[in-house]
Amino acid sequence: MGNSYLCPQCSGHLKVGESVVFSTRSKKGETGLILLSPKLGHYEVINHPSFDFKEGDYVEFFCPLCHVQLTSEKNENLAKVLMIDDDLQESEILFSKIAGEKCTYKIVDGNVEEYGKDSSRYLESVLKGGS
Ligand SMILES: [Zn+2]
Repeated sequence: MGNSYLCPQCSGHLKVGESVVFSTRSKKGETGLILLSPKLGHYEVINHPSFDFKEGDYVEFFCPLCHVQLTSEKNENLAKVLMIDDDLQESEILFSKIAGEKCTYKIVDGNVEEYGKDSSRYLESVLKGGS
C-alpha cells in the first residue's frame, strides 16, 4: 500500500497513484497543481509547464480538497501534512515551500528525522517545539 498522506485540516487523501497532489500559488499569483514524490527525501516535482516558478521562489501550498493553506506553525516557509505509514503510525511531515530547497522533516512523538541536503536550514525552528 505505502504511506498515506492526509490534509491536517480535512483528513482528505492527498496521495493519488504515486504522487502527492497539492494546489499551489506562486508569488505572482499564478495557481497550479504540483505533484510531489511520496518518498521522503525525493524531490521530483511534476507540474504543468504553464505554471512557471524559479529556484528560490516562495510557493504557497494548499489542500486541493478543502483549500486550507498547508503551513507549519513552526516556520512559514514549511508546509505541513500528515503521513500514516503501513503500521498506522501517524507522523507530521514538514517540507520547504521554497522551490529548489531540498528539506523534509518527519516528526513522530517529538522526534525529528531530517531528509534532504538543505535540512539544516530550518532544523532549529522545527526542534523549537510547539506543534
Ligand atoms: Zn484539506
